[in-house]
Amino acid sequence: MNNFDEITKVVQKNNNFLITSHINLDGDAIGSELALYFILKKLNKKPIILNQDRLPKIYNFLPDSDKIHYLEDNCIYPKSIDVGIVLDCSNIKRIGKTYEIFKDIKTIINIDHHESNENFGGLNYVNSSVSSVGEIIYELIKSLNIDLLDEEISTCLFAAIITDTGSFRYSNVNSKTFKVASDLTYKGIKPYLIANNIYNRNTYSGLKLLGETLSTLEMDDSNYVSWLTITRKMLNNTKANDEEVEGIIDVATTLDNTEISILFRETKDNKIKISFRSKGNFDVNKFAGKFKGGGHPNAAGCLCSGKIDKIKEKILSELLNDIKQLGYEN
Ligand code: 5GP
Ligand code: MN
Repeated sequence: MNNFDEITKVVQKNNNFLITSHINLDGDAIGSELALYFILKKLNKKPIILNQDRLPKIYNFLPDSDKIHYLEDNCIYPKSIDVGIVLDCSNIKRIGKTYEIFKDIKTIINIDHHESNENFGGLNYVNSSVSSVGEIIYELIKSLNIDLLDEEISTCLFAAIITDTGSFRYSNVNSKTFKVASDLTYKGIKPYLIANNIYNRNTYSGLKLLGETLSTLEMDDSNYVSWLTITRKMLNNTKANDEEVEGIIDVATTLDNTEISILFRETKDNKIKISFRSKGNFDVNKFAGKFKGGGHPNAAGCLCSGKIDKIKEKILSELLNDIKQLGYEN
C-alpha cells in the first residue's frame, strides 16, 4: 500500500483530476468525492467529479453537489485527464460504465476502506479499520499539515461518516470515529441539519413504498434471518423511484433477535439487487462474495440475473445452510 506522502506527490505533479465512486451512490461516496474536490481546488488543481449514476436527491444540500456529473448528463471534460481517483470501491468494476473513461487514464489512485479491496490502482490507499472513506480523506487532509479543513469540507466529511456508520450505530465505529466527527464540528457545521437533510426528507411515494415493502417481511423458522422484497410493480404502484429504496433495509435490521436482514429488489435493467446486513459475527461480505458481490462484514450486496423468486430461493437456501454449518442459529 502507498502512503499519503506518495499520493500527495502525485497530486502535486498533476493538474487534471477525474474523481469517481461506485454505482448506487451513497453518502460516503458523495461526501468523500466533494471533500476531495474542494481540497484539489484549494491546491489550485482542476478536479471533476463524474459518476455513472445521478446524485440521489437526499444529498443535494451538500455544497457544490450540483457540480457532480453523471454519465448521461454529457459533461464535457478535458480529453487528457492526468489522474483518476476512485473512492469507496473494492474493485474497479464497481464504478460501472465510467470504467470506459477510467480505463484510459494512466494514473489511478484507489482510496478505500473495504477489506476485500483488490488494489487495482497505480497507487492504493486502503484502510479497512476506519468507518468510511470520509475518515481517510480527513486523515489525508491532516497529513498535508496545512489548514484546509473548512465548513464545506467538514459538512461533506460529516455526511460521509454518519451515513457509513448508520449514524454511529454500526460496528465500524470506535473512539477515533467520534474524534474525527467531533473535530469536524469545530468548523461551524450543524450536525442536526445534516441529519435532517439526509434522513428527514422522505417523499410521500417513498413512505408508501416503505409501507408496501414492510408488508413483504418474512423470517426463517429460527428468526435468524429476515427478508424484504421490492418488485417493479411495487415501485410502479407507489410511484416511488429507485433511489427511495435507500434506508429500507435498515428498518428490517431493527427486528429484535434477527441477525441477518436481506432486501431483494428488482432493478430497472431486470437484475436482482440484493442487500445484506448483519448485526453479529456472520460475515455478509464473505457470503455476498459467493455471488460475485462484496462489501463489509456487516453490510454487503450483490447483483444477480434471473427471476426474483428463483434467486430468493437460491440465496436463502445457501444462507440458511451456511448458518447451520457455522453453528450461528438462534
Ligand atoms: P448496499 O446494500 O447498501 O447497496 O451496499 C452495502 C455495502 O456493500 C456497501 O459497502 C457497498 O459498497 C457494498 N456492495 C453492494 N453491492 C455490491 C456489489 O455488487 N459488489 C461489491 N463488491 N460490493 C457491493
Ligand atoms: Mn464507504
